[in-house]
Amino acid sequence: MRPYDFTAPRTLGAAMDRAGKESAYLAGGTTLVDLMKLEVMTPRRVVDINRLPMRGIEMRPDGLFIGSLERMSDVAEHPEVRTRYPLIREALLLGASQQLRNMASIGGNLLQRTRCGYFRDVSQPCNKRVPGSGCPALHGENRMHAVFGTSSSCAATNPSDVAVPLVALGTVVHLEGPRGRRSMPLDDFFRVPGSTPHIENELRSNELISGITVPRLTWARHSTYLKIRDRQSYEFALASAAVALRKDGRRIVEARIAVGGMGTKPWRLRNVEEALAGRPATAATYEAAVAHAADGARELSHNRFKPALLRRTLVRALTSLEG
Ligand code: SF4
Repeated sequence: MRPYDFTAPRTLGAAMDRAGKESAYLAGGTTLVDLMKLEVMTPRRVVDINRLPMRGIEMRPDGLFIGSLERMSDVAEHPEVRTRYPLIREALLLGASQQLRNMASIGGNLLQRTRCGYFRDVSQPCNKRVPGSGCPALHGENRMHAVFGTSSSCAATNPSDVAVPLVALGTVVHLEGPRGRRSMPLDDFFRVPGSTPHIENELRSNELISGITVPRLTWARHSTYLKIRDRQSYEFALASAAVALRKDGRRIVEARIAVGGMGTKPWRLRNVEEALAGRPATAATYEAAVAHAADGARELSHNRFKPALLRRTLVRALTSLEG
């Protein structure tokens, strides 16, 4: 690890004053410290933001506000999350290990970097780490890589579990920066790589996430998060599905669907949502609705199984809500 300067301000203004071009904000540190040890990230200054007033979980008129410094484990155990948003709780509990969940912040979770092996190996080229250096994954080890939102520059998946249900529910992310406060849909916050895979989101220079608001959807109680992976703990998703259904008896009125492990960002499937709306909640409906779920997918040499896995994961998640 390279030497760095450390500072722990108490106010947002001081944090932004002390941040600069070669600095990094530190919250839980579960991504940043790893990547500093690997010398994938080499900030000259680390700005510890843990003293900033960016905590709290509370139901407000527009939805559930979660401060960005809240820890994953605390969010998962909060009564409002347990009772109103089971898909968020399940996604949190299926991510990382208990020790990591106790440290990792919700804001940091949304900003975690890809698990692409080439990105984390500084002896390899990688457009995301060193722009213009190339993407060995496109013709190399790409079994875990994305099939949606890829480009000729990068096909790395977004690794966050909890971002998947948050995008499905239409969550809004709040940002604080030197030019003030702003908010946007989380779905718009994440960028696809295009020709600039090193720019992963809409954060401007020295901006940080201060919190998120999950819309107040009473029917989100009827939801789940299913994660398919190579082993049953401490592993990233090959495929995952966040599913919420609003039903009137046996009829589906509205659906929210997003998937993980498939896209360069959490991938909302509006075509599947539309195919489910107004239909009876039956196996035949689910099979028909997911038939086009992988339309537009671009497989790589080692991940051709993903479209079929996506369809099966969605059907299983929908069926699991029957109980
Ligand atoms: Fe780097 Fe993206 Fe290619 Fe992985 S897929 S090597 S992160 S450019």
